[in-house]
Amino acid sequence: MYLGPGEKIATAGGLSISSYGKKSYSDSDAEGLVDILFGSDWPLDITRLTEGFPGSTRVNYESYAKGIAQKLKPRYHFVSNPRYNVFWERQPFSWEEVDNSQSRVTRFISLADFQTKDQKWFYAFKIDVTIDRTALTPANSTTNPYSVTSPPKRPMGEFDNIWDENNPERLSIDRESDKTRSKKKRKTAQIMSVNPESCFFCLSNPKIDRALISSIGEEFYLALAKGPLISGQTKSQLGCPGHVLIIPMSHVPTYKSLTFGGDSHKFILEKKKYEIALKQMYSEHGLYYVSFEINRKNGVHVHTQVIPVPENRVPLIESTFKEEGRKLGIHLKNREVHDEEEEYFKLTLPDSSTLVASIGTRNRFDLQFGRRVMAIILGIEEQSDWRQCFQTESEEQTDCFEFKKRFKTFDFTL
Ligand SMILES: [Zn+2]
Repeated sequence: MYLGPGEKIATAGGLSISSYGKKSYSDSDAEGLVDILFGSDWPLDITRLTEGFPGSTRVNYESYAKGIAQKLKPRYHFVSNPRYNVFWERQPFSWEEVDNSQSRVTRFISLADFQTKDQKWFYAFKIDVTIDRTALTPANSTTNPYSVTSPPKRPMGEFDNIWDENNPERLSIDRESDKTRSKKKRKTAQIMSVNPESCFFCLSNPKIDRALISSIGEEFYLALAKGPLISGQTKSQLGCPGHVLIIPMSHVPTYKSLTFGGDSHKFILEKKKYEIALKQMYSEHGLYYVSFEINRKNGVHVHTQVIPVPENRVPLIESTFKEEGRKLGIHLKNREVHDEEEEYFKLTLPDSSTLVASIGTRNRFDLQFGRRVMAIILGIEEQSDWRQCFQTESEEQTDCFEFKKRFKTFDFTL
């Protein structure tokens, strides 16, 4: 679907979407309210009255874009401009006296350019057309930045690129010659053989199995495992397999690349929240939390697999992992991940302690190692290969329904 500047469409579900561009859209053309607004120019004043906007980021602000935003009052306002190539999400702000004095909230989000490695370039969100959820003013909202009188426009230099102190690499890429750049591109293409369009962990992939998604946060989401490990004991206690994946929204091979140059605290915190929520849910059904993850620079899309374990199997976890690892030359040690470490397998035990093994790029690492060992621990070795654990669509739907029902009270995103 192509949406030209100034055009407005309404989806069958009742969402109204519009976009703007400088030449083809003046604010006098804008009509009515919209749910989602797209553009490449940043509205004047949008970075005022808020925290967290990187001071080193230099952006050209446009008053025409502000005019359009003021008129259309979008619930989500997305801006993406390859010149700035920055991800930034403003704190929400509300409008007064809209729709018969109902309040309305705008979320402004700038996305980086398509497939940018270190910056988020897509955004997943829930929008409910029947109930205006945004009418509930979020706790972190600010005063409407458009409602205050603007100071004179910030002068812009010729070089209006981003100078991001946290990311010196970007500058070096901007400055390097086209020749090196294309060389680099070719190299990147080789490494990233799976792009987000064909990645089964990327929400931007239209073919992703949405029936398995069970919770969506800001930086991570939760999905049931495809072909899950199903232990009879677990299922009788929990009512579903409970084997889930914690997946970052960003298409990155390691957790380190996810937090590189950005606000790592936010990512770590949300992942932790999912871990705690799952732990609490399992515990309510007499089960224990075990998770494992593989971080490899040439990996595709990092994620953490979480599997609930019945009490009588807990004492087997550490010894079985160490023993099975030894057979394959995977030396699991009772330690944390070293700061500088990027390539490793990590197992988290029910008491939150971790077993870690470094995995060099030169050695081949069995990606099914974690699952295979968990199958041994749970006494269901025949389920070692997930491809042999095919579920029908209705089985998947039932599992997801049962899981969500139990997770609901612990899900912090609801
Ligand atoms: Zn991906």
